[in-house]
Amino acid sequence: MTDTDNMHAALATMPKAELHLHIEGTLEPELAFKLARRNDVALPWRTIDELRAQYRFENLQSFLDLYYALTKTLRTADDFHDLMLAYLARAARDGVMHAEIFFDPQVHVFSNGVPYDTVLDGLLEGLRAGRKRYGVTGGLMLSLVRDMSVESADRILDMAEPRRGEILGIGLDSAEAGYPPSMFVDQFARARSFGWHAVAHAGEEGPADYIRQALDLLHAERIDHGIHILDDPELQARVVRDRIPLTCCPLSNLRLQVVHDMRKHPVPQMVRDGIVCTINSDDPAYFGGYVAANYAALADAGMSLDGLAALAGNSIDASFADERRWMRMHAALADWRTANGV
Ligand SMILES: [Zn+2]
Repeated sequence: MTDTDNMHAALATMPKAELHLHIEGTLEPELAFKLARRNDVALPWRTIDELRAQYRFENLQSFLDLYYALTKTLRTADDFHDLMLAYLARAARDGVMHAEIFFDPQVHVFSNGVPYDTVLDGLLEGLRAGRKRYGVTGGLMLSLVRDMSVESADRILDMAEPRRGEILGIGLDSAEAGYPPSMFVDQFARARSFGWHAVAHAGEEGPADYIRQALDLLHAERIDHGIHILDDPELQARVVRDRIPLTCCPLSNLRLQVVHDMRKHPVPQMVRDGIVCTINSDDPAYFGGYVAANYAALADAGMSLDGLAALAGNSIDASFADERRWMRMHAALADWRTANGV
């Protein structure tokens, strides 16, 4: 094995948390075809290879078009269970000990006609099975789809409220430009009144001001992506001072052309500036790699194993895991450092 192979293998066993992962974005073409057959859903592609050929994206919107088309294969609680368990099996092989997982109920309920409880039952059953089988802890983050109507967000929260104790937090995702966080102040206030944590995608394709809105108006505890923070030194200083974590997704940024060259990815600079960065896979079935591949991409671009282990430590600190689990994960990371001489 080469040094690079050894480094990649070490990164896959490094204990970590994954905090920015859309369960719908883990739907691999093979599972999509299997679900389409199971549910008698017609797909416009005849073979898996034909489908794979669609995975070249020019921007966020071209990705979202395919992403939403494939969600139509998810119909039953078993489908959502299988999707979740497949992700947790894959994540465990990447050293993930804890995952906080987004799902987009507005798409399943209003676009695809699947009852909310069916979606939730399947995903929760998958989480329970994954915890038992692979030891991965975590929870569900209900993500509002910002380019669907605000009224549909309200209706989803009506459906979620009776089972609010089964959800860890609220998020905000999908097409960013033209959909500022300020549109969702009431929905986030309501979600926080349920006892939920709050996070939001901001500053991926949208401007740095969306990050400020997510913090000031939505009271987000983490910012998903947040890459445009580099355009706003005052905001950057605030995020450093208040230790607000960013959930960065290097391979996603490359595939969606938010950055054009991994060697120029801003994560190393953000780390030098004192920003609490975490590394995540976003929609790994679409973006060419699960979380360990995202760490490996940064290693290939020149980051050290020590620097990457510090980012894994950030992912544990930025998670909503309870103190016992937090201590267990840090102990595992310390053991990994010793075993690998890092
Ligand atoms: Zn995302």
